[in-house]
Amino acid sequence: MERKTIALIAHDHQKKSMVEWAKFNKETLSKFNLCGTGHTAGLVKEATGLDVKQYLSGPLGGDQQIGAHIAEGLIDIVIFFWDPLENQPHDPDVKALLRIATVYNIPIATTRATADCIIEYYWRNNK
Ligand code: PGA
Repeated sequence: MERKTIALIAHDHQKKSMVEWAKFNKETLSKFNLCGTGHTAGLVKEATGLDVKQYLSGPLGGDQQIGAHIAEGLIDIVIFFWDPLENQPHDPDVKALLRIATVYNIPIATTRATADCIIEYYWRNNK
């Protein structure tokens, strides 16, 4: 199977959830190339032992880096646990990332439930 690339992003209050999700899905995630915004990538890497390419932290441009890679066709799936209860200093970047993922028809999960559906789909179809 051609290795697809998943980008992982979690706002601060969602990082615990992202780490739990990544640990639970470690085996499946090991079949993908992984990348993510700085802190999220670091936490997932530490918790799972998987290789996760670290971009800049979200508020420092990491969301924009991931958005650019989506536009270049280098990212296939986005798991983005954004915080619905708190304003983010980089809200325009968050919006831009959601927008560019939609423009390029990228599967993007913003909840654990959807992340589970996406990961199960790829696991089952071995895509
Ligand atoms: P972080 O960035 O993983 O570096 O914390 C996430 C974000 O806030 O977009």
